[in-house]
Amino acid sequence: MINSKLRPGDRLSPKSILIWRIAQISVWLLGVVIVFSLIFYPTLGIHLFWNILIPIAPLLLVVATGLWRNICPMASTALFPRHMGLSKRKKITVEGMGKLNLISVLALFVLVPLRHAIFDLNGPATAVLILSLALIAVVMGLRYEWKSAWCSGLCPVHPVEKLYGLNNKLKLPNAHCGSCHRCVTPCPDKTPGINPLTTKKTMSNKIAGFLMVGAFPGFVWGWFQVPDYDGITTLEQLITIYKSPMLGLLVTGILFLILKKFIKEKSLITIFSAAAVSCYYWFRIPALFGFGSSPGDGTLIDLTRVVPEWSIMALVVALTLFFFWWIVLSKQRKISWVIRPAYATEGMNFGKYSYGKNKG
Ligand code: SF4
Repeated sequence: MINSKLRPGDRLSPKSILIWRIAQISVWLLGVVIVFSLIFYPTLGIHLFWNILIPIAPLLLVVATGLWRNICPMASTALFPRHMGLSKRKKITVEGMGKLNLISVLALFVLVPLRHAIFDLNGPATAVLILSLALIAVVMGLRYEWKSAWCSGLCPVHPVEKLYGLNNKLKLPNAHCGSCHRCVTPCPDKTPGINPLTTKKTMSNKIAGFLMVGAFPGFVWGWFQVPDYDGITTLEQLITIYKSPMLGLLVTGILFLILKKFIKEKSLITIFSAAAVSCYYWFRIPALFGFGSSPGDGTLIDLTRVVPEWSIMALVVALTLFFFWWIVLSKQRKISWVIRPAYATEGMNFGKYSYGKNKG
C-alpha cells in the first residue's frame, strides 16, 4: 500500500486496489458502528467518536493526510455514487469552489462551539449531525466529479487537512480517483505543500484561507476556555459558547496580519499550523485523562490517581516539540498527500477504475 517508488500516473495493481477497498470498507463499517452506538449506546458512542476518533484525527492529518483522504468513511460515502457510475460528474466553477471552501470554514466555526452545548453530551444529536453531513456528501457525490464538491469543497474537515497536512512525507496512491479528470484546480490531493492560502483566485478563497490560517489557532484556544453545558437554555449560554472562540479567533487573526509584514507568508503558515495543532493537544490530552480544567469534560479515562500530572505535561510538551519540528523545521519533502493517478485523457479506459499509464 505504501510505495516510495510511486510516480504520478502509475497504475495501481488489482491487489493494491483490493487492499485499499478492504481498508475503506473496514473503516466505513467502523463509522457505522460509531453512529449505531451514538444512537443506542450514547455513552459508548460519545467515547468512540469524541474521545477516541476525533482526538486521533489531528495527529493523523499532520503525519498522514493522504491516508485519511483514502480511508475517511465520509469520503467513501460521498464517492460511492462515483465508484458505482451513478454520478453526473459535473465540474464546479472556480467561484463555486471558492464558495464551498468558505462555507466549509464557516460551518467549522459554527458547529464546533455547539459541541459544548449539544454534541459532546448528546449521542443521538451527534449521530444526526453525522448522518446529515453524510446525506449532503452523497448528494454532492451524485452531482459532481470525484472529490471536488465534498472532499475538497464542502467537508468541514477539509480546511483542517489543508492547515495540518503541510509537510507530507508519505507516498500513497490515490485510492479513490480511478483516473484524474482535473475536477478541481489546484487539486489538494496532488499538489505538494498545499495550504489554505494556496488558492487566492476569488474573495471567498482569500477569506477562507485567512480564517483558517490566521484565525484558527485562536479559535482552538478559545474553544478550550468554555466548559460543557447540558443543552442551551438561555441566550446567554449561547453567547458564552461562542464568545471565547470568537475572541481567540480575532486575536490570532490580527496577529497573523501584523506578522505577515515581517515574516514570509509560507513560514508564517507553518508556524500557525503547528501552533493550532499543538494548542489542541495542549488542552485535549490532559482533559482525556482527567487532568482538564473542567473536570469530567471530554474525559476518556481518569488517570488522576494512577499517573502524576507532570507525566501528562511531559507528553504534551513532547508532542508540541514534535509538531513544530515536523511542520516548521523538518525538510519540506514536496510530496503530495496522494500520488496523482493517470489523467483520464491519457488512459486507455475511461471507466470507473481506469488507472492508465502516464509518463508525467
Ligand atoms: S486527483 Fe484529479 S480527479 Fe481526483 S480529485 Fe484531484 S483533480 Fe479531481
